[in-house]
Amino acid sequence: MSDEFLNVQLLISGKWQDAADGRTLPVHDPATGETIGKIAHASKTDLALAAEGAAKGFEAWRTLTAWDRFVIMRRAANLLRERAESIARIMSREQGKPLAQALAEIDGAAGVIEYFGEEGRRLNDVLVPPRVANVEQRVLHRPVGVVAAFTPWNFPINQIARKLGAALGAGCAVIVKAPEDTPASPAELLRVFLDAGIPAGAVSLVYGDPAEISEYLIAHPVVRKISFTGSTPVGKHLASLAGAQMKPVTMELGGHAPVIVCADADLDAAAERLAAAKFRNAGQVCIAPTRFLLEQSIAPTFVDKFKARMSALKIGRGVDDGVTMGPLVNSRRVKALQELVEDARANGATVWHPDTALPNGGCFFPPTLIQNPDLSMRVMQEEPFGPLAIVSEFTSLTDAVKEANRLPYGLAAYVYTRNERTQRLLGEQVEAGMVAVNHHGIGVPEVPFGGIKDSGYGTEGGPEALRAHTYIKLVSSEQAKADF
Ligand code: NAD
Repeated sequence: MSDEFLNVQLLISGKWQDAADGRTLPVHDPATGETIGKIAHASKTDLALAAEGAAKGFEAWRTLTAWDRFVIMRRAANLLRERAESIARIMSREQGKPLAQALAEIDGAAGVIEYFGEEGRRLNDVLVPPRVANVEQRVLHRPVGVVAAFTPWNFPINQIARKLGAALGAGCAVIVKAPEDTPASPAELLRVFLDAGIPAGAVSLVYGDPAEISEYLIAHPVVRKISFTGSTPVGKHLASLAGAQMKPVTMELGGHAPVIVCADADLDAAAERLAAAKFRNAGQVCIAPTRFLLEQSIAPTFVDKFKARMSALKIGRGVDDGVTMGPLVNSRRVKALQELVEDARANGATVWHPDTALPNGGCFFPPTLIQNPDLSMRVMQEEPFGPLAIVSEFTSLTDAVKEANRLPYGLAAYVYTRNERTQRLLGEQVEAGMVAVNHHGIGVPEVPFGGIKDSGYGTEGGPEALRAHTYIKLVSSEQAKADF
């Protein structure tokens, strides 16, 4: 059933609908290049209706109690779990990732929605003791309003779940501009909210021309906050549009994650976990480890172990049994990766791929290891966002930290060492929004998820993410003196 031709509509005021002018865009399977569906392409008429519907949806949603909002969000999370198999298949077809990874993503998204629903119940107001008798100072956290959320194709559901969860948990309504490359699984996510009983307009979904939609929605008076996940250049552009309108933003942008592997690390565990993290979703992950900094004495051993993991990857269509790495999302990404690798090779790098044939056709790109890099290579400056790891060696931790902090990015960083002092030292000194030591346990709902420097600002996890969708209001009132 989920292998049908996909027909994705806009969600406006609680109703699924085609674009007012009937325009559509095709959806492709990146593993075959085949057209597998179509999506409605919103025009300004549709966007105006979406904004109007969201304003009404916000009134209906914010006036529910936090408990009632939680009940709907928990129901939505459970529906998502119930429908996981069929939604995972849709995601795998349109995005290319292996089914097991799609299922894990959906399960994670359900956990995020549930968490933010619960956290919304703890958005407590505060009474601040006054300096003057009979004055009561109440500090209130109130939902900021309608949020415009722009999300990318690498985690079609989880990227939306983080934005929807935090916004809805705080009592905001959301207009989602989901990725045109992977539109059908996001539509299924929005459907679970409708089926869970969310008021019409509290969640809306549009697709079309990303630049046209962001320009329109960011300037629209109904929209009070912008949340974006994607590349740093687009993030900076959207932040400047939002700045001109004095609207707050959450920006989750690119990364170029360093990994420091010390000589005392458990190298088997490091190679296994790092390979899993590197090649998950064919490396199209903002927190994927990319610059591998290996202590010189263990570098050859680690590289051998890592290559063995690369050789064990089974590359193919995400929906096929046993596949562990699918294609890239589109041919634009294949070309971008090819250019980075060619530039590295031309500048003297050693480029290694496992000896496995890639499937014919589609947007496949081999797992790639770049050795002997130097700083003149583009790949040492630009986020590859693909199944590509770069290996260099270090002899002092000071040099490793310097290299880790060299780039303007600061999203995730990884450290492998058994030494507790080194763990603490690197945890402090590496400039990143998230540092994981000896494992990859970042991304769970209750902890911060976000970057610094060019990787953005704000967080998409933990109570801070919810609070970023509220404004603070002081109500200070003088009470009449008791006359009894
Ligand atoms: P891109 O910058 O063209 O697009 C990234 C995302 O932003 C897409 O979903 C796209 O629809 C959206 N977008 C682009 N222009 C927009 C605009 N003016 N207004 C609103 N949305 C807009 O990049 P791409 O080629 O699709 O992806 C490659 C790069 O994107 C990667 O190098 C990576 O840095 C970044 N990316 C990051 C994440 C992440 O999780 N942080 C996810 C996907 C892509």
